[in-house]
Amino acid sequence: MVDKYRNHISGKWSATGSLGTFKNINPADTRDIVGEFPASGKEEVDAAVAAARAAFRKWSLVPAPKRGEIIKRAGDLMVERKEDIARLMTREMGKILIETRGDVQEGIDTAYYAAGEGRRLFGDTVPCELPNKLGMSIRCPVGVCGVITPWNFPMAIPTWKIFPALMCGNTVVFKPASDTPATAVKFVEILLDAGVHEGVINLVHGTGKTVGMPMVEHPGIQLIGFTGSSGVGRIIGEKCGAQLKRLSLELGGKNAEIVMDDANLELALEGALWGAFGTTGQRCTATSRLILHKKISKRFVEQFVEKAQKLRIGNGLDESVQVGPLVNAGQRDIVHNYVKIGREEDKATMLCGGEFLTGGDYDRGFFYKPTVFVNVTRGMRIAKEEIFGPVVVALEVESLDDAIETLNDSSYGLSSSIYTQDVNAAFKAMRDIEAGITYINGPTIGAEIQLPFGGMKNTGNGHRESSHTVLDTYTEWKSIYVDFSGKLQRAQIDT
Ligand code: ADP
Repeated sequence: MVDKYRNHISGKWSATGSLGTFKNINPADTRDIVGEFPASGKEEVDAAVAAARAAFRKWSLVPAPKRGEIIKRAGDLMVERKEDIARLMTREMGKILIETRGDVQEGIDTAYYAAGEGRRLFGDTVPCELPNKLGMSIRCPVGVCGVITPWNFPMAIPTWKIFPALMCGNTVVFKPASDTPATAVKFVEILLDAGVHEGVINLVHGTGKTVGMPMVEHPGIQLIGFTGSSGVGRIIGEKCGAQLKRLSLELGGKNAEIVMDDANLELALEGALWGAFGTTGQRCTATSRLILHKKISKRFVEQFVEKAQKLRIGNGLDESVQVGPLVNAGQRDIVHNYVKIGREEDKATMLCGGEFLTGGDYDRGFFYKPTVFVNVTRGMRIAKEEIFGPVVVALEVESLDDAIETLNDSSYGLSSSIYTQDVNAAFKAMRDIEAGITYINGPTIGAEIQLPFGGMKNTGNGHRESSHTVLDTYTEWKSIYVDFSGKLQRAQIDT
């Protein structure tokens, strides 16, 4: 019996979709069908938007600290349900259990942060230039938010958007990736059990084309929060631009770890392995470039390849496994195609990996060997384009300046890292690296929710998630002038 999951629209769960149903399979074992979901379209989007619209005023008038309390309860429920959700998430998208537990934990952290923010939601009060007059700014909700999310962080990424959106008094239409719809259902159940009002959160399952695009185009949605590929982000950006719709884009990366000649090499190796092959390389912050000082390059690569080949690959539900499968056959083909491109490029040399894992249980999943290329130069496609898989390219550099320049030679600017024991080099890197996130002596992954998350250049459109900065996406500023002089006072004219 396959579990049947439902949409949630206007306070009601519904298993029927206007376009039928779709199934979600376990990428580590294709015999395991995770669930059946309603394939939805414009009809469901229209109903969800109408519900969110109808619920907006009442929800926006609930005091923010009270909305925060509901979100706090959602965080508590996530703590209770963490293990079950983590196991379901591993079945859905393949990453190993410690990572899916971490994914839920990030949701919990985000809940508690947003709950606290409900008691702050600071604005400014400022003196006015005229007597008996006060100025202040307050944050107002934007309206109905359309939230479109990817499959690689099925809980964390939706919570990054939905918790602050709700805390700020908005209502939501949520479309999760069709590879991870079950985790999304668990999240919405938690929100409802925590006390979110009817119509405030609406869940619509389906594809980017049938559900995502109608949301982007819907005049009843005031804001789109999107995380996904830069290609889709561009399309959504154009559509939103034409409608002057508020949009937060969180897109791709080609993140690099610099290892200087004075670095603690053991630490840098450990960081590179975790950064490159954690989540099977399917993180927007994954380490996909190693920028190595020429003095340590050969030694580092040798040890890195040795360790990469020893990683235990398999079903993430097995606690001894270190790397799970890729999320689906399509993603595996994309990765494999990039490997082919790499092998044909100039003088790039593949030192390990480059193939599917086959035989036994491997034949029932989308497993790919950790892959390392050396002799890579900046202009090559494998050095420039996001691969989103367990593929790392190593580039050799002569100096710190060369390393930073090489790192910055990318159209993306999400995460970055440098391993060095030289405090001057570290501070220079902090200043000069063009990325939204820089780690010193840590890998490119591991963001905490109390700091802004997002990137420069083609990684987005200037917004940041997490921390208090996310509030700038989910609120409108209103400036208020209170004149208690009892007469007309003209700013800039009456002095
Ligand atoms: P990923 O494959 O990493 O999830 P995508 O950018 O393909 O990245 O998809 C991210 C999310 O955007 C998914 O929920 C997907 O269904 C949705 N999506 C894809 N194409 C479109 C589109 N044209 N309009 C709106 N949403 C889309």
